[in-house]
Amino acid sequence: MIGYGQCPRCGTWTYEHLESHSHCWECSFVPEDLRNKPRSEFERERRLERSRLKEELMFRSLVFVRGLM
Ligand SMILES: [Zn+2]
Repeated sequence: MIGYGQCPRCGTWTYEHLESHSHCWECSFVPEDLRNKPRSEFERERRLERSRLKEELMFRSLVFVRGLM
């Protein structure tokens, strides 16, 4: 499942569910089982998700700007 939910730790709705893992943008909460993963692997996945998010946001703003012209 991919989307946002309520963080079990801080209670904000910035708890993101991704294909590979879930984490909270607000307090960096990560489910316990993922903490056992090698850190480098986790950081790599996080970077991938971030760049994907950035690309999607750029694409959306491009579509929005085109819609205005
Ligand atoms: Zn949180």
